[in-house]
Amino acid sequence: MRIDVLGVGFDNLTLDEAVERGMELLHSPGTHYVATPNPEIVEICRENLAARHAVNCADLVLADGIGIIKGAQMLGTPLKGRAPGIEFAGRLMARMAEEGLSLYLLGAKPGVAEAAGEKLAQKYPGLRIAGTHDGYFQEDEPVVEDIRRSGADCVFVCLGAPKQEFWMAKHGESTGAHLLCGLGGSLDVFAGVVERAPAFWSDHGLEWFYRLCKNPSRAGRMMKLPLFLVHVQREKRRK
Ligand code: UDP
Repeated sequence: MRIDVLGVGFDNLTLDEAVERGMELLHSPGTHYVATPNPEIVEICRENLAARHAVNCADLVLADGIGIIKGAQMLGTPLKGRAPGIEFAGRLMARMAEEGLSLYLLGAKPGVAEAAGEKLAQKYPGLRIAGTHDGYFQEDEPVVEDIRRSGADCVFVCLGAPKQEFWMAKHGESTGAHLLCGLGGSLDVFAGVVERAPAFWSDHGLEWFYRLCKNPSRAGRMMKLPLFLVHVQREKRRK
């Protein structure tokens, strides 16, 4: 049973369990996808029913940020812990490398997915990079076809939310991959274009603040965080 946080259902898994489940999906027949919502995405889902549907239809929904953990706790239905998308992806790649599986990287500005692919192939020997494509394409079909021809087992779809969830729900099956993971800005981090917050900040649940300091233009988006907490409080009182 999933844990509901303002209409989005989260799988109650530790990071280890989430990776295990990801590997199971990767080895299961058919196509599956993973969503990694943070409070900002939950807020988007409150207003956009189609986005909420695309997120809730994912086979695995992971709590990306400390905000989700706090929200679930305040609502009296705590989650076991955080499973940030980027850490989930790192662990999944390590497992895929052991089995010689292949990965396609989709998203970010031109050149970024390619650079990420080079770095990841070095970091995870055994992992096969099946192909890459930037995230600023006009037509979906040629991209879907490129993934299908690559024979990738897994695709990281990094187009930002909710675009990536819509894309996975609509095209996942046609790519022929077994697993697609919606991972926001992760390719920028893997390529070294954007720096992830040092451990101190993320360990203290302050990664969002670090990102805000580094990139003040995110302030508008960050306002969704206090709004999320206000909505959680309201929901708590209603309950
Ligand atoms: N992006 C993309 N295509 C688009 C819009 C965005 O590939 O049409 C990429 C963008 O370049 C960035 C990622 O999607 O690499 C979204 O990053 P953001 O920091 O917004 O995501 P977060 O990690 O905060 O969810």
